[in-house]
Amino acid sequence: MIRVYNTLSKSKEEFKAVNPGEVGIYLCGPTVYKPSHIGHMVGPVIFDTIKRYLTYNGYRVKFVINITDVDDKLIAEANARNIPMSSVVAEMTADYLRNLEAMNVKNSVDYFPKVSEHIDNIIKFTQDLIDKGFAYESEGDVYFNVGKFSEYGKLSHRSLEQMTGEGGGMADRKQTPFDFSLWKSAKPNEPSWDSPWGKGRPGWHIECSVMSRELLGETFDIHGGGLDLVFPHHENEVAQSEARHGKPMCHYWMHNGLMQASGEIGKVGGRKTRTAEEGNIESQETDKISKSKGANAFGDMLKQFEPETIRFFLLSSHYRRPIDFSFERIEEVGKGLETFYRFAKRFEKITGHNFYHLPAAINRIEGDQTISNVTPSFPELAEYRTKFLEWMDDDFNTGGGIGVLFDLLRVLNKYIDDYKLETATGDVNRQALLIHGATVLRELGLTLGLFYEPPKEKTNAVSNELVGKLIGLLIELRASARKNKDFATADKIRNDLAVFGVTLEDRPSGTEWKI
Ligand SMILES: [Zn+2]
Repeated sequence: MIRVYNTLSKSKEEFKAVNPGEVGIYLCGPTVYKPSHIGHMVGPVIFDTIKRYLTYNGYRVKFVINITDVDDKLIAEANARNIPMSSVVAEMTADYLRNLEAMNVKNSVDYFPKVSEHIDNIIKFTQDLIDKGFAYESEGDVYFNVGKFSEYGKLSHRSLEQMTGEGGGMADRKQTPFDFSLWKSAKPNEPSWDSPWGKGRPGWHIECSVMSRELLGETFDIHGGGLDLVFPHHENEVAQSEARHGKPMCHYWMHNGLMQASGEIGKVGGRKTRTAEEGNIESQETDKISKSKGANAFGDMLKQFEPETIRFFLLSSHYRRPIDFSFERIEEVGKGLETFYRFAKRFEKITGHNFYHLPAAINRIEGDQTISNVTPSFPELAEYRTKFLEWMDDDFNTGGGIGVLFDLLRVLNKYIDDYKLETATGDVNRQALLIHGATVLRELGLTLGLFYEPPKEKTNAVSNELVGKLIGLLIELRASARKNKDFATADKIRNDLAVFGVTLEDRPSGTEWKI
């Protein structure tokens, strides 16, 4: 049984799909006016992992991330650069998709709807809200009348009294200060569309109510986003959708923790300052962090770190916790990931099998069968697999799951050591069990979107090859020095290499090295 923490009920609930066997996930995406930051990758990586895990559990999952291509920030950026808004959108959408592709997320997303492609639907939805008495027009703007929706505040767990004063400006056009805009009348030189209320453009919140309904239906399964979106954005989505349809917008509201840099609370990248009218209270923190290194363009970060390392970093704690961001922290987590890479190499040497081609089970039932079909099984394999699945079943606790992957890795390495598999040539049975164990490791890794393909070598191929040859030569010289009982030379080679960061490991099969 999979359990999901629901912001709406503030508790973990058993996951039940709206339609048996199918799951719809909607994640609030970026406003494409600047290059992506690592903050933009947090939600996509987390919800991609949730999709993978649900798929592994037999569900057909539709995953939607919207692209906000009409917005105050975009208009400001286009004006500042003196280019059309559409050019900014094209450039930054391409940047975003490129980064998602690097993170192994893009292919998992089924739809990237854009606001500009849904203007007619937005106008119709807005008109419906007016007709039903939940919204009103005022001097070319249309506002949602918060007072008319009695459940307003149920997602963020606040009362209207607590919200008073957070609504901000434009009060003269609104009936109450916390009413929010569905449609904004056009200012001079702004992109605009014709509507029953004159030229204008949609507000921010309405786009998600409309696009999620178009692609996933009136009630869908999971709505995701960062914790900073609970209020006002998601609260307003609930109000719009439920007022319009008279039924729950979605069954599970899932919110990921925000990224914090250098101990500052706030977020790195992600959605930046909203206008006061839309009630964003994160702007100060965001500005602080945007000056820190975490706000570097994600494309630049990818020059420094492999995407899989960043993915591993983002999944190494539970998604609802804040993520402590620093380059040092990513490096540290990356070292852990490298122990898996080293195992893959060691494994290939022993068995002749490429770890990344092992035929791992792609769903849970198949995986269960594989485990029970192999007897005697690899020691503790079933137990570790069960533990991993328990963590993931418990609100997708990827951090706990990764901890189990490390445990399993230790057991596999110990198995190789204990039975001297690197030297034994004849023990085919033990090799077969090792292959089985490694296949399960890969099966579990794949549910997190890890171990898809071998890691890229760090430096360019030519210098890499040369370094390998030079170290190989030194290892040979050291071996012959030891043979000649010239231990001073042998030790010097070992110690000096250590100073350069190269560690030699003497194994029964020969000397291994790592940087
Ligand atoms: Zn949204």
